[in-house]
Amino acid sequence: MSRSTVVLLPALLLAMWVGAVAASPAERLGAAVRFKTVSYQDYSQIDYAEFEAFQQFLRETFPRVFSRLEVETVNEYSLLLHWRGGKSSLAPILFTAHMDVVPVEPGTEQDWQHPAFEGVVAQGRIYGRGTLDDKVGLMGLLEATEQLLAEGFAPDRDIYFAFGHDEEISGRKGATAIAARMRELGLHFAWMVDEGGMLVSDNPLLSGQTLAMVNIAEKGYLTLTLEATGEGGHSSNPPAVSTIGRLSNALARIEANPFTPRLVPPVEAMLEALAPHMAQPERLVFENLWLTGGLVARKMAGARVTSPFVRTTTALTMFNAGVKENVVPQRALARVNFRLLPGDSPDMVVNHIREIVADPLVAISYEQWDDMPPVAEYPAGGYAVIRSAIESIYPEAVVVPSLLMAVTDTRHYVDLVDSQYRFHGVEVATDQATSIHGTDEYVDVQSYEKSIEIARKMIELGAR
Ligand SMILES: [Zn+2]
Repeated sequence: MSRSTVVLLPALLLAMWVGAVAASPAERLGAAVRFKTVSYQDYSQIDYAEFEAFQQFLRETFPRVFSRLEVETVNEYSLLLHWRGGKSSLAPILFTAHMDVVPVEPGTEQDWQHPAFEGVVAQGRIYGRGTLDDKVGLMGLLEATEQLLAEGFAPDRDIYFAFGHDEEISGRKGATAIAARMRELGLHFAWMVDEGGMLVSDNPLLSGQTLAMVNIAEKGYLTLTLEATGEGGHSSNPPAVSTIGRLSNALARIEANPFTPRLVPPVEAMLEALAPHMAQPERLVFENLWLTGGLVARKMAGARVTSPFVRTTTALTMFNAGVKENVVPQRALARVNFRLLPGDSPDMVVNHIREIVADPLVAISYEQWDDMPPVAEYPAGGYAVIRSAIESIYPEAVVVPSLLMAVTDTRHYVDLVDSQYRFHGVEVATDQATSIHGTDEYVDVQSYEKSIEIARKMIELGAR
């Protein structure tokens, strides 16, 4: 036996084993979870060998996709795939997902029913980090494309797939680089679909009916830094107003003056789409938002769960001052994070906060912000395609447009796409959604299989 055979044999056996177990989509998703493609805020902690191995796994698992589509690796670990269509006059469309996952919080590893990176398939579920966010989206799109290629499907329109590798830490190296490459190629898309919306099986608004939320907009993201400076010194002889007191006062004023609640078009569209499925008196209220809008906005602002839908939110998130109990600090620093409603601009927020603070000894600064995605076309355009795809697999589901509270990679593609949607077709229960970025993340096998069918339909219908 030659030395190379000895070295190769374990690899061959492993490949056979992986090939043997990964016979179903669920098992392949489980296999995808086993690659620890974990993003850390500190880039030096990232194990890029896992990303390389994951990409190799994708190439082996989806041989048709990786041989028949044009494949470009961007910034080493991100992927841009191009499926050429038959009619070059049609604007291309784009499907995106991300390869990276968030870490398991140290100390919570033992809380998982099945280890976070083992991809166990049991009790009709696939367990592990990334089964909902977002290997489910990535693998689902690739499964769908592999099937369509096997069946000889040929799109009219050019279809692109973009898979970033650092969405969880802002996408600065993945989606940003992919978008730059698209600009070089002169691409412009009619619409795109990213992660962010799902089907919810037990929404309290609709008893017994599955609700599919297709996000047509997302909230903007802005963090302001407030810094109070002043006289410090020994605590035995303190100044009348300390930096801590000054900054605390400013922050208390900010918190006491939240942004005024109002209904923005995507939320109005959501409530109107829900109306026919509601019982009275909600139905009457939602059907007449021209009259009841102000009241509905105030009511939604009053409950923590619905408040983010109707206002630009203010969250005091960091406060730092002082190093010693008997020294008055000369500097105190705080951060305030805002999530902006569509229509509100960062400039507007900054001006509003300056007016409220109104203290020349409290400096307000911020980093450059990203463009906020505009509201996507609705109910026509890509929305109609996504809706038909959902209804072909879940005929009973209530499909509604919505507003995403989180930020995704979509903001990196704003200038390249006319309409941006956020929806991956997995069905979850409300309590299951808390496992995203948390413990015991899982997806139902059946739900995953249906999500592949929805992805297939989105591609088939979108390709025309
Ligand atoms: Zn995600």
